[in-house]
Amino acid sequence: MKSKFDRDLLDTLEPYSSEISVSDTNIIRLHANELPWKNEAILWTLHENILEMPINRYPEVTNSYIRGRIADYLGFEKENVLVGNGSDEIIDTIGKAFISTLDKVLIPAPTFSLYSVITRIYSGLPIVLPLNLDYTLPLENILSESKNAKMIIICSPNNPTGVQYSEKEIKEILDTGILVILDEAYSEFSDQSGLHLLDHYDNLIVMKTFSKAFGLAGFRTGYCVSSETLVESMSKVILPYNMNTISMSVIDLAIKHEDFMKVSVRKIKENRKYLYGSMQEIKGINPIPSSANFILFEAEDPKMIYQELLKRGILIRYFEGKKYLRVTVGSYEECVKFITNLREIFDGC
Ligand code: PMP
Repeated sequence: MKSKFDRDLLDTLEPYSSEISVSDTNIIRLHANELPWKNEAILWTLHENILEMPINRYPEVTNSYIRGRIADYLGFEKENVLVGNGSDEIIDTIGKAFISTLDKVLIPAPTFSLYSVITRIYSGLPIVLPLNLDYTLPLENILSESKNAKMIIICSPNNPTGVQYSEKEIKEILDTGILVILDEAYSEFSDQSGLHLLDHYDNLIVMKTFSKAFGLAGFRTGYCVSSETLVESMSKVILPYNMNTISMSVIDLAIKHEDFMKVSVRKIKENRKYLYGSMQEIKGINPIPSSANFILFEAEDPKMIYQELLKRGILIRYFEGKKYLRVTVGSYEECVKFITNLREIFDGC
């Protein structure tokens, strides 16, 4: 549908959608890179605290307390942290603050689709640089394109490939001097983070989220860490009161109960190993080694696999026109069900 008031750009955009509702409990959700477990301790404490919450008052406008809490947790100052209603809002804020009309934004892809969408919403020019065939960064291409570009958005480990890029490559890109956005939504599942690079580079923004390893996607809690200057620039355009009182309280509790995240990451890594090993044994698919909580796998007929799994109550991520699919690493039971069904599908072929 189209209204007469639409910007022309809207002809090329689709609403972000998912065919399955969260309340559909009959489906095994392995499509959205969520954590399969809930942090019950957070829910219980929230339950106790909620009656005391000053819900008739606006939250503190600069989100100062929670920025300080995250900063302490990571070893930075609160002036280095900006919080958002999910890291989606941080991506949007980066667009608002730094993308002017026709600014070139380098996007090594396949990657998270929102980067291109946000670039276009702010009238920038997404320059999509195809990853190498093994899904590594096309470094030469990036370095030469960086000469005319304003910024680059790199996701590491990358969604949907799960590939972690090397620090050496990221440093080479930072050395070009363009603005580097490093999306670390999945870094807790790998053993690497670029946060320490912030000591040496003032052209870096590291984005992170509580949605994935902390299992808090429903509360919409993301953030970024960067130089005081870049955080101040973004603070000029982010909406006031962008994070609600409950979400801030949840971040506080998530940090307090950090063990939940650590245990969850350990279990996901074990399940990832099982899932990857089992997928390797299935003839007809080619799983890619992953440093995240999902695995990309190549197949001849992705649509058939996606549809057959869905018939059996398992939802994974399908990408129109691509030769691969992505499956989230769930609980052990979910992984076993996925593998059992996948084997059945291939036996029946
Ligand atoms: N970055 C990447 C790479 C993602 O995959 C996602 C979620 N799919 C996000 C950012 C956004 O996460 P959130 O808004 O839940 O923090």
